[in-house]
Amino acid sequence: MTFERIEQIVFILVTLAAIYIFARNIAKLRRNILLGKEIDEPIENKGERWKLLLLNALGQKKMFKRPIPAILHFFVYVGFVIINVEVLEIILDGLLGKHRLFAELLGEKIYPVFISSFEFLGIMVLISCVIFLIRRNILKVKRLNMPELNKFPRMDANIILITEVVLMTAFLTLDAADQTIQAKHFLYPPYFQTGQFYFSSFLVPAFINMSMKSLVMIERTGWWLHILGIFAFLNYLPFSKHLHIILSFPNTYYTRLKASGKFRNMPEIAAEVQLMLNPDAAVAPPAGEPGRFGAKDATDLSWRDVLGAYSCTECGRCTSVCPANITGKKLSPRKIMMDTRDRVEELGRNIDAHGKDFKDEKSLLGDYISHEEVLACTTCQACVEACPVNIDPLSIIVELRRYIIMEEAKSPNEWNVMFGNTENNQAPWQFSPQDRFKWADDINSK
Ligand code: SF4
Ligand code: SF4
Repeated sequence: MTFERIEQIVFILVTLAAIYIFARNIAKLRRNILLGKEIDEPIENKGERWKLLLLNALGQKKMFKRPIPAILHFFVYVGFVIINVEVLEIILDGLLGKHRLFAELLGEKIYPVFISSFEFLGIMVLISCVIFLIRRNILKVKRLNMPELNKFPRMDANIILITEVVLMTAFLTLDAADQTIQAKHFLYPPYFQTGQFYFSSFLVPAFINMSMKSLVMIERTGWWLHILGIFAFLNYLPFSKHLHIILSFPNTYYTRLKASGKFRNMPEIAAEVQLMLNPDAAVAPPAGEPGRFGAKDATDLSWRDVLGAYSCTECGRCTSVCPANITGKKLSPRKIMMDTRDRVEELGRNIDAHGKDFKDEKSLLGDYISHEEVLACTTCQACVEACPVNIDPLSIIVELRRYIIMEEAKSPNEWNVMFGNTENNQAPWQFSPQDRFKWADDINSK
């Protein structure tokens, strides 16, 4: 059996294994997201949803509020998406035992333009990733160095950036070695004349004195490193914040379209309040048994909240505008999302290990997110506004807060006074409704 045939068989086996593991991970991810409850509003306005998806997930509109990271991120993102066309060529080459299949299809005039444009994007990705690494690790930009990013999240970001640097270097190296083989020997199957690749051709002088064997070895190493790196990246994604490159699309599509700041009413409570304000009101009783008020654990949240947690890029834009965080409170909306994801992951692992009925006596509220964090929120919506992928940390905070207040009765005393006033006076103040306009009388009498 020839070396090329063995290489082809190994490639097919590696590809099948990578696809199998990825499919298994995605199935677990889907199951974990659906641990959240059904959302209680229909997914309407499909046109508006597609528009949001195109503007915010594909067009990254909100990212451009901060232009420098936005431009760098844009190159990494576009590079990642477009270079996948080149990955498709590598996969087809590997499966079919070919070399640069698209060169045969596109010809010597178009193919070099095609590869040169990928090389340009590859270089931009490389430069952007190096700048991102410097921002994180040397300049220590504040929002990228907060306590919730200690340990794995910091390492995760660095792993991905370094992997991208390695992938792009491997891509340019294999192109340069291929160009050098073409420059040295016109015919050395399976290598053949493909035309000049603009950017990697600058590296040819560094390779030109090498033997043919070394060049083939470098080209093959670059090729394998590139594709194995892509497969590894693919299977690392479900465990990484970089899952947002996939989930930001459904997350923006399923975003809440209600007016900003409009809270979701709990039907049981809404009915009671309506009856309190007007005992004769025709209020339909809520369907079914009332469940838990608010959320204690991640399974009490909606699947949209869980999807948001998995879509979080950990960029910290939400935390950097959070008035509670800015004024030194413990609350960080990014941490709320990260904790929710960690808890759902833990629940998923519990199901894998012990079955779906297993209870671990832990909960999102208490074991991951403290009461102090939840109660520090001013419900100002700044985090929701700031999030580039339309995540709503406030939705989770409000549900946890509802649990604290309505199930645990642990709201602060000042709040209890306000609740009592609202119930008795229909306003947060200690005046009876009849006295509410007395201030106007006082002014008139002056
Ligand atoms: S809504 Fe709460 S968590 Fe979000 S920015 Fe305002 S205070 Fe912070
Ligand atoms: S919730 Fe949004 S803004 Fe906040 S860290 Fe996650 S992706 Fe960034």
